[in-house]
Amino acid sequence: MKESALDAVVVGAGFAGLAAARRLREAGKRVQVVDARERVGGRVMRGSLAGQTIDLGGQWVGVGHDRLTALAKEAGRALKPQYVEGDKLLAIGGRQKRYRGLIPPVSPGAIAGMGWVLWRLRRLQQRVPGDAPWQAAQAEALDACTLAQWRDRNLPTADGRALFDIATRAVLCVEADQISMLAFLHYLAANGDFETLTSTVQGAQAATVEGGMHALASHLAEPLGADLRLNAPVTAIAQDSDGVAVHSTDGTLRARRAIVAMAPALAGRIAMAPVSAAREQLAQRMPMGSVIKCQVAYAQPFWRAQGLSGELVSQSAVFSPVFDNSPADGSVGLLVGFIDGAEAVQWSGRPEARKRAVIDSLVAHFGAQAAQPIDYVDQDWIADPWSRGCYTGVPTPGTLSRLGPALREPCDAIHWAGTETAEAWCGYIEGALLSGERAAGEVLEALA
Ligand SMILES: Cc1cc2nc3c(=O)[nH]c(=O)nc-3n(C[C@H](O)[C@H](O)[C@H](O)COP(=O)(O)OP(=O)(O)OC[C@H]3O[C@@H](n4cnc5c(N)ncnc54)[C@H](O)[C@@H]3O)c2cc1C
Repeated sequence: MKESALDAVVVGAGFAGLAAARRLREAGKRVQVVDARERVGGRVMRGSLAGQTIDLGGQWVGVGHDRLTALAKEAGRALKPQYVEGDKLLAIGGRQKRYRGLIPPVSPGAIAGMGWVLWRLRRLQQRVPGDAPWQAAQAEALDACTLAQWRDRNLPTADGRALFDIATRAVLCVEADQISMLAFLHYLAANGDFETLTSTVQGAQAATVEGGMHALASHLAEPLGADLRLNAPVTAIAQDSDGVAVHSTDGTLRARRAIVAMAPALAGRIAMAPVSAAREQLAQRMPMGSVIKCQVAYAQPFWRAQGLSGELVSQSAVFSPVFDNSPADGSVGLLVGFIDGAEAVQWSGRPEARKRAVIDSLVAHFGAQAAQPIDYVDQDWIADPWSRGCYTGVPTPGTLSRLGPALREPCDAIHWAGTETAEAWCGYIEGALLSGERAAGEVLEALA
């Protein structure tokens, strides 16, 4: 190995890459981190709305996200429980209703159908190991069936199917015919269950980070100093008996190992040789979900005075679900929501039209006061060339059962991190942290 070579280059300064670099540096290894963007954090990004610092990307700390909770504590950032006081709004089948608790105000048939489906999903997910879904009983059959096919067999009412679609879109940013049952059950198994994923209290949307999630990425990156290279898209990684040569627009770095810490769809854009046939194919069969995150500011959280929590789930709204994202003191009213799935593709690249559509949706559901926003911001993740969609990469039917092991299997000196590769909490920041630590562990073992 050449004297000047590093122990490792980490490509990607999202939470996965930053966690990998931290672990390697703690073990005394010489590491550099390279990212295409001008900032760290990847799918977690700082924004500003009505003078408040907000998150344009990943935001919530969910129940069981222990690494992330510990990181917030270490960085001196308090967790703020998601605001849930008051009634939620549900608009489905042309009617809007207020409700509290977990049971939505839909027809008894739809409630019974949802209850049955949740029970069935809990049973089925037990078949699917969260860390190795390809080992599930009847993995290929589950991977050949789309979630839409399963939904139509198991949910008899139109309201029940609509509610199910809203929830699955909100969780994965894809339509039910774009994901297999195996991939869906894997997501549930890796992240608790369907209710956990769709809940605020005791769920994946339990709390936010004071000062913003992006502050935790900055905290992880801070010790890197000059070992962090930004604005340096990696174009190629070549391997030989000495290790790897990582070519970026900022020059070439040589190292004994590389960790590629990003979604497979992004990794597939880097010319890498050699990589396994399975990894190459996986990168082509795991497209990103589709989402635009929108946030609207009002002079006050006016919905609170109406006894509403700000939470809205709507079949007709351009963007749904919506949550209250106001600061703890309520000095200004912020609503955050998502345009997800197929609709996000339609609204991508149309910033003015979608701003109008988002505000019109809020007026339709929260009333005339919603027509007077004081600020608005959104982030179109599909249009972002270094994410190409979000929240996560979703394997197409038939992919996970055949190519799943290639998610993590190193290709000689190239190791894989990124939330998609995580053995638990995949799709979430917690999974990104876990995946980075795992990939760093592989590198340490290889270098020992
Ligand atoms: C709108 C939205 C809401 C979300 N909400 C939540 C939430 O509430 N809670 C939660 O836990 N998760 C949430 N997520 C998901 C979460 O943000 C991701 O799971 C997590 O940030 C992924 O981290 P990562 O390090 O695996 O990947 P990334 O953050 O994507 O990092 C990959 C990095 O690689 C870089 N890169 C790509 N290509 C190249 C290249 N060729 N050369 C160099 N660098 C490159 C990118 O710039 C990026 O910085 C959300 C995501 C979005 C977008």
